[in-house]
Amino acid sequence: MKMTVSIRDLEAWDKEYVWHPFTQMKAYRREKPLIIEHGEGSYLYDIEGKKYLDGYSSLWVNIHGHNHPELNAALAEQAGKIAHSTLLGAANVPSVLLAKKLVDSTPTNLTKVFYSDSGSTSVEIALKMAYQYWQLKDPVRFAGKKNTFISLREAYHGDTIGSVSVGGMETFHHIFHPLLFKRLETPAPYTYRLTENNDEEACKAMCLDSLEAILMESHDEVAGLIIEPLVQGAAGMITAPAGFLRGVRELCTRYNVLMIADEVAVGFGRTGTLFACEQEQVEPDFLCIAKGLTAGYLPLAATLTTEEIFEAFLGEPEELRTFFHGHTYTGNQLACAVALKNIELIEREGLLATLPNKIEFLAQKLLLFRELPHVGDVRQQGMMIGIELVQDKASKKTFPAQMQVEHQVILHARMNGAIIRPLGPVIVLMPILSMSMEELGQLIDITYEAISAVTSQAY
Ligand code: PLP
Repeated sequence: MKMTVSIRDLEAWDKEYVWHPFTQMKAYRREKPLIIEHGEGSYLYDIEGKKYLDGYSSLWVNIHGHNHPELNAALAEQAGKIAHSTLLGAANVPSVLLAKKLVDSTPTNLTKVFYSDSGSTSVEIALKMAYQYWQLKDPVRFAGKKNTFISLREAYHGDTIGSVSVGGMETFHHIFHPLLFKRLETPAPYTYRLTENNDEEACKAMCLDSLEAILMESHDEVAGLIIEPLVQGAAGMITAPAGFLRGVRELCTRYNVLMIADEVAVGFGRTGTLFACEQEQVEPDFLCIAKGLTAGYLPLAATLTTEEIFEAFLGEPEELRTFFHGHTYTGNQLACAVALKNIELIEREGLLATLPNKIEFLAQKLLLFRELPHVGDVRQQGMMIGIELVQDKASKKTFPAQMQVEHQVILHARMNGAIIRPLGPVIVLMPILSMSMEELGQLIDITYEAISAVTSQAY
């Protein structure tokens, strides 16, 4: 029997029963909810049939478009065999094939793959492995030591307690401070806010000097440093100056600290290369991947690491060197099968080779935004864009929160057929990588119109 539910019921039940993530529900319930019913290519369709460009890649995950026939078929084919069996004490075909593919596609020093289900868990795993590695390597020398992590100001690595411990976003994280483990904070290379004239070289030097000072003093306490390579996404698309990532890698090596590259957001082509680390020939000790891994189909994540770290965990069972960590759905077959098809599509369709033209096209279109009176900074790294709104360009003061300017921009864009999202004062664009030039142009035009219409009324 087919249940018929009215649009009105769905809207009412959403407000009544669903607690949305990162959402002030009091404000949410004042507005008409946007309920997505289906997707096709670069578009999402709501329950009333209105169509929107997915300018946010459905939270930074989509790569080839929605409802993709080959991804659908890969999922259906795997479902016809088996949906899930455990990786505890047994293997499964797609997870083995995917592990090999990931090792072949990532920086060459990474040879081992540990699966999980979300970006946050991929980070938890890297943090726990890093700590345990030092304890296993030299239990006497490191007893009670190397139990601290370094991360950047404004860092975002997920929402579980370990990943929040290495977070640096006051708004999200301050309430949890009493629950968290030790962290040292190093400045983020936020050139717009740290320098007078967007001086990237000065910003880079300042940030690397600060990091070196911390490492010099505390490296004995530090197990690892975690960083979002090239772009701090959730912080509002803070793009790092060229050479910063490389500099961080060199400092980690010099001070005997493990480097964790959190490529949850920037992996799978977002910055123009398959992985962001490639751009500065950086080989991290851990690589965390999630979001784009299944091209927006299913939750799947992986933490990759080196032979040296893996080997430190080897021993007889009774020696208790085992990494005691695992999730019920670790290495899920459906997700691994879709991930394999995703990577096959990226390669077969030459997706990465299509990106430079798109990136350049976006860069040209973005020049216009700088002239708007309330746009303080425009940042782009590949297919990741942040447009920072300010009330006053000279002082770089942002609009007061109660004015809800950024939210109004998003609603305006939605009215005109594009879904985008703000991060604090920054309007973020994360187009689906397969979007056509025409669709990218529309997305930019709708965003420009929304920012200029809303900010011209806000003063
Ligand atoms: N790390 C980074 C850099 C992220 O951007 C995110 C999510 O936005 C995460 C980790 C957390 O991933 P998830 O939401 O899948 O737990």
